[in-house]
Amino acid sequence: MFSIKTSKGSVSFTRFVGPFINGKFQPTLASSPAKRALLNPCTEELLETVNEAGPEDVDIAVKSAQAALKGPWKNFSGKKRRNVLLDIAQALEQNIWKMTVLEAACGKPLDEAKYDIEESIECFRYFAGHADKIHGHNFATEDNHKSYTVRKPVGICGLITSFNYPLTLAAWKIAPALACGNAIILKPAPQTPLSSLMLGELITKHTDLPQGVFNVLPGGEAVGSAIVNHQGIHKCSFTGSGAVGRKVMSGAANSNLKSITLELGGKSPLIVFADADMDQAVEDVFGAIFSNMGQNCCAGSRLFLQNGIQDKFLERLKARVEKVKIGDTLDEAYNFGTMVDRVQFERVMAFIEKSLGEGKSDLLVGGKRHGDKGFFVEPTIFYNVQESSVLAQEEVFGPVLSVMKPFDTMEEVLERANATPYGLASGVWTQDLSKAEHCIQELATGVTWVNCYNLCSSHLPFGGVKESGFGKDLGAESIGEYTTVKAVTIRV
Ligand code: NAD
Repeated sequence: MFSIKTSKGSVSFTRFVGPFINGKFQPTLASSPAKRALLNPCTEELLETVNEAGPEDVDIAVKSAQAALKGPWKNFSGKKRRNVLLDIAQALEQNIWKMTVLEAACGKPLDEAKYDIEESIECFRYFAGHADKIHGHNFATEDNHKSYTVRKPVGICGLITSFNYPLTLAAWKIAPALACGNAIILKPAPQTPLSSLMLGELITKHTDLPQGVFNVLPGGEAVGSAIVNHQGIHKCSFTGSGAVGRKVMSGAANSNLKSITLELGGKSPLIVFADADMDQAVEDVFGAIFSNMGQNCCAGSRLFLQNGIQDKFLERLKARVEKVKIGDTLDEAYNFGTMVDRVQFERVMAFIEKSLGEGKSDLLVGGKRHGDKGFFVEPTIFYNVQESSVLAQEEVFGPVLSVMKPFDTMEEVLERANATPYGLASGVWTQDLSKAEHCIQELATGVTWVNCYNLCSSHLPFGGVKESGFGKDLGAESIGEYTTVKAVTIRV
């Protein structure tokens, strides 16, 4: 057992000793096994040590998944798959506090962590609804031929996720993959594997999912790369950085041409027109950039304010930032946590320091480490940011907002908003529906929120355009990511 102390008492967990393969935790077969010490990023104290998987474990997981796909899972009806997904949702619900604590122990405030688990539960319920409705189409009979399509599972899916929403991002992929009848090899981010490993334990205890259908391989690049390049894996759905996304694409191309989904980074623009409800916009912009301490692919990191409102807007935004309570995320008294680990902390601080020295922006608030223990970065706002600044172009993945120079016209702001290689999300605040509609049409992003931000729902497809990736998580669209379509024609 290991335990985690919270302001509401201590919570105990089974030790997740290593890779979860064929329905149980197993010792790794790696020739040079790696142990990863996971630190609580608020205290820098040891949380747990995980035995990471090696590339050798990928072969074993593929063999178990192959056996499962030939075994009883092959004949699980849509109804039975639905029930498995509902059982996973129920098991998570019964363990919601434990799961919340595991996520909060990665530097995320307790209320955000709880919201993430609730969203994950909702995701399993949503795709349970799809499991018995996966079907093809019939086509009008042509002469003496009858044609129809059949949807089949793709087979073995390698699911690779980033560290920022550990269980939620995994659920976005696991739930549709299981609904469609696939087998899974999940590789969570090396910084945050615990909730995915606990999910393995819950699935074994609380569902009828056959062994070998759901496997979890904790580890880093070596395991990820082995999954991407494996000849026996048919699909890879990846969430992470563009740099690694490119490796996934080339690994897929150089192995068996497995199909891929890429959910990558962003540099999302937020556009506030002068006619917007300012109180609402300030609150939304605050959440857009600072929720999850900016470690959010959709983080609204470039703010465009229409000429005339900047002074008032920034005064209110600064006041909002100053209300934040930074501290131990396992204590509900605090609502702003840390970077996930030292590497991410140093990366974000380097961005801030570079920007302070670059002379292409002015600092409004923040800009420093908070305290001298833990990986806390103050919520930081730069304004008068020039388009050529690193702050305007590169994803910081931390609590850093770039307020760009104010804009005059809609055409001007749309051009500036679209002027990055990314295309994940965007936000618009206005009371004028026709302005909003024009922005929706012209913003080159996979998601646009109007007078709100960061609202993802299981029924809405999520994913980017341009260098933010392709393919969709969530929504009915994601069923297409985890199935192949066979066209059938019969002479009758
Ligand atoms: P990352 O790219 O460093 O790592 C992502 C995952 O890839 C991890 O599990 C990692 O171990 C694995 N990996 C590393 N090298 C690999 C390789 N060669 N082959 C296969 N897998 C490999 O990203 P991160 O630091 O965990 O997350 C931050 C990034 O993720 C940001 O760019 C963020 O915008 C993006 N992200 C995107 C979305 C989205 O839905 N679009 C959501 C969350 C995060």
